[in-house]
Order: sequence, then structure tokens, then C-alpha cells
Amino acid sequence: MAGGTVTRFAPSPTGLLHLGHAFSAIVAARAGARFLLRIEDIDRDRCRPEYEAAILQDLSWLGLEWESPVLRQSDRMPAYMDALTRLADLTYPCRCRRGDIRAAMSAPQEGALPAGPDGLIYPGTCRGRDMREAAPDDVIRLDVARAFDALATGRIGFRDGGQDHVMTRAQFLSDIGDVILSRRGMGTSYHLAVVVDDAAQGVTLVTRGRDLFDSTFIHVLLQRLLDLPVPDYLHHRLIRDHEGRRLAKRDDARAIRAFRDQGAEPQDILRMVGL
Ligand code: GLU
Repeated sequence: MAGGTVTRFAPSPTGLLHLGHAFSAIVAARAGARFLLRIEDIDRDRCRPEYEAAILQDLSWLGLEWESPVLRQSDRMPAYMDALTRLADLTYPCRCRRGDIRAAMSAPQEGALPAGPDGLIYPGTCRGRDMREAAPDDVIRLDVARAFDALATGRIGFRDGGQDHVMTRAQFLSDIGDVILSRRGMGTSYHLAVVVDDAAQGVTLVTRGRDLFDSTFIHVLLQRLLDLPVPDYLHHRLIRDHEGRRLAKRDDARAIRAFRDQGAEPQDILRMVGL
């Protein structure tokens, strides 16, 4: 554990904590001299207070301790709004729905569309629209080409486990595209909220699953644009089921709760995730 390292675990209360989350939380707690918790509840349709309560109980049962107060993203809307305002010159309102994007990409068949960590690579139909034209049900996208120009750089990168990872402007444009900073009806997006909050909480080491590795390039771009420090990263292995699939919230059989009900002890959970 490095001296002043600040880590966090940031679950979304859209289901019960399962083995994959337990592993992620323990990795974060062990890596930090200070360990923080953040509830990522910006998706009001999918988040439930009873899941939040269950997650906190399961984390305590596992023996984890975190600092108070717990940050809740639903309390942080003004901070996200402020960040969006600061990026206004580099963003545009987008009215395209999924079907419009498919049509604009003239996809030959269903499912064959290029996608990245933020979903379909946006073909740019609304690029050039002015923020003053934004309608309440538009999403807000970052104009990535202009963002790189504003930074006067051709590449961005981060450190993971002591190794440098770099993405060029051209790769970002082709593999990720104009990311969404504010989703319909949400006022922010996962990417924007996570960046604003990691900085506000003073997180110096972001630990999370490898499934989010490509998203980290989005986060670093936003950190650079918002003049926020770029933390170190550690993308850990994923816990998989017997068929080798990554665990998902719907896998209730793998919920910590289900193991507890069957009489498992915290040590058993640690063993199950290979710790
Ligand atoms: N809230 C995200 C999740 O539950 C994790 C975000 C992160 O660690 O950056 O998958």
C-alpha cells in the first residue's frame, strides 16, 4: 500500500453485489491508504435505494471499512452541470436516436456496426449544431477532433500498473468517436460524472475491471480538458463464471447475499475470487 494512495469503489445500485464486485472492492481497499466509496446512481430509472442499502451491508460483512461521507452521484448534479458548461465550446447537442445512427452508417445488416466503449461510433450527423439549439431531449456530445485540437496534442495516455498506455487522436476518432457527456434525461453521463468525482474525492489510484480499460482513454481526455489531475490506474482481472462469462448483475446466484444465505463466511468469498 503506497503512502498517500487514495482509492475508491464505485458501485451502481442497480442490483445486488456479486463476486465480481466483491473482488473489485477488496482490490481497491487493499491498494489504498485511504479507501472511499461512491454510489453511482445517475441512472434514476435503474437504481434502487434497497440495492444501495444491500451493497453497504454486504461490503461491511466482507470486513471493508470506508471513509465518511459516502459520495452519492445524484447529489452532484450541479458539479456535472458546471463541467458541461466549461466544455460548452467543444460540445454539441445531438438529436439522433439509435435508428438514425444505424441509418446514417448505412449498416448492411443488424449487429454489424462498429462500436466502442461508448456504444456505436457516432457518424457525426449533428456535429456543428450549436449548444444554443439544444432541446431538452437532446444528448450532448463531445466533438473529439476539436477537443484534441484544443489540447494541441495528438495523443493521450495513462499509467496502469507502472506501464504507459497511449491512444492517438486518429485511434480515438475511429475506435471511440464523439462520446456522450450528457445522456437523455440524465444531465450527465457515466464518463463525465466519474471524472468530476474522482477529482473531487482526490482519488489518486483508480482500480476497476479490465472491461473499463478503453473507457479510461475517454476519462483521461476529459481530465485534460477540465484541467484535472490524471490519476494512476489499475485495471484488474474479471471474475468469470464456469462458462468463462463475465458476471453480471442479473447473475443472482453469484450474489454475495446468496452465498451468505447458504452459510458462507467472508473468507470463503475471498477464496472464491482467488484472494
Ligand atoms: N459504477 C461502475 C460500475 O458499477 C464503476 C465505475 C468505475 O469504477 O469507474 O461498473
